[in-house]
Amino acid sequence: MLLRHTSKEVKEREGLTINPAKTCQPIGAMYAALGIHGCLPHSHGSQGCCSYHRSTLTRHYKEPVMAATSSFTEGASVFGGQANLLAAIETIFSVYDPDIIAVHSTCLSETIGDDLQQITRKAKDDGKVPEGKHLIFASTPSFVGSHITGYANMVTGIATQFAVSSGVKKRQFNIIAGWMEPSDMREIKRLTKELGVKIVLFPDTSDVLDAPQTGKHEFYPKGGTTVAELVSAGDSLSSLALGSISAEPAAIALEKSCKVPFETLDMPIGLSATDRFIMTLSQLAGVKVPDEITAERGRLVDVMADMEQYLYGKRVALFGDPDQLLPLTEFLLDLNMKPVHIVSGTPGQRFEKQMRLLLDARSPETNFRNGLQADMFLLHQWMKNEPVDLLIGNTYGKYMARDEDVPFIRFGFPILDRIGHSYFPNVGYSGGLRLLEKLLNALMDRQDRDALEEKFELVM
Ligand code: SF4
Repeated sequence: MLLRHTSKEVKEREGLTINPAKTCQPIGAMYAALGIHGCLPHSHGSQGCCSYHRSTLTRHYKEPVMAATSSFTEGASVFGGQANLLAAIETIFSVYDPDIIAVHSTCLSETIGDDLQQITRKAKDDGKVPEGKHLIFASTPSFVGSHITGYANMVTGIATQFAVSSGVKKRQFNIIAGWMEPSDMREIKRLTKELGVKIVLFPDTSDVLDAPQTGKHEFYPKGGTTVAELVSAGDSLSSLALGSISAEPAAIALEKSCKVPFETLDMPIGLSATDRFIMTLSQLAGVKVPDEITAERGRLVDVMADMEQYLYGKRVALFGDPDQLLPLTEFLLDLNMKPVHIVSGTPGQRFEKQMRLLLDARSPETNFRNGLQADMFLLHQWMKNEPVDLLIGNTYGKYMARDEDVPFIRFGFPILDRIGHSYFPNVGYSGGLRLLEKLLNALMDRQDRDALEEKFELVM
């Protein structure tokens, strides 16, 4: 009943978003920066922004997320925050001793017109960056884009501000991770190791946001892509960008700056996207797919075939981030399920085109919208008009699921009220199996809940 005022009648809106299906740019920039070893993210804006970004990441990962802030007061808000940032850089290097400070802007600093490129250059010229330490930046105004574009901007900043072409190629490949969980990054590394392909994965939040309990607090956990690896990314044979929205901009920038050619793939979520990932990497590197990976694939295909009867035709509503929604939708279609409504708050024609292409070919009647008016309110209205059997999305979907009495699978960012997402991957064949198990469990639990006594079965 929490959203009981959501009306069934859909009215086209302009200039009004209700319950956005996205969050703000700096959260993405902060997350990306945490995937670099020894990096302290720095929020150039007010303390409130930084607290919000840190607390959202902390609640999602259940790990303390460290970040610094320029702590704007009234003066900085009016006259600009250069003095605050220069003082902050000096203090951070002397007190917290990171290898890197990754500065991102906020709505406030962008509105005033603070130029991060100029301020960070001044900090370097003034000797505020000690020898062997690094200062990078990304512009992340949150009055445009979403956490996904903020992530893409910081990953692009990482690629362009570290990678160097020495003129001698290394037998390695860059894998530029779109926004995915630490567990997914760990799984990508495992799969490439199985394949025998040397990679530079960035960013890499595994062993940062899923670091083990050792009994002592590590301000900079052991994980994260190292500076040496990032520098060498300029000498890689090619790059694979996993996600056209969150990873491809960095691959384009790297091609421009270091002439590293690239291919863009969907995130390897589900059977088809994982097939493309494995085959592309095996062809690029000229390696054979090992039996262990073929067996993993075979297990997923086997369960898909065995369980199809329970999934066939089930109607699904989903919302979230573009690079995850595309392969997830494809996976649902591979399972013969029916994506009925799809919404993403991240704007962009590229994503719109890609999703339309997929849907036109395999499910033309699906309702799909992205951008500012593609919010959860609209999704809820769509669900009222054309009911579904299942809802998939981040924690905020639980209100709609409860109101419509629909089973709900948490997927995406943020997940504030469950664990598991940082520890169990969604990518790869094993990730596909986990997703399939979740889909099946949600539907079977509902079937059991609603079954008449004489139809309450012990066996599937
Ligand atoms: S939307 Fe802008 S003002 Fe609000 S928390 Fe994000 S950066 Fe700060």
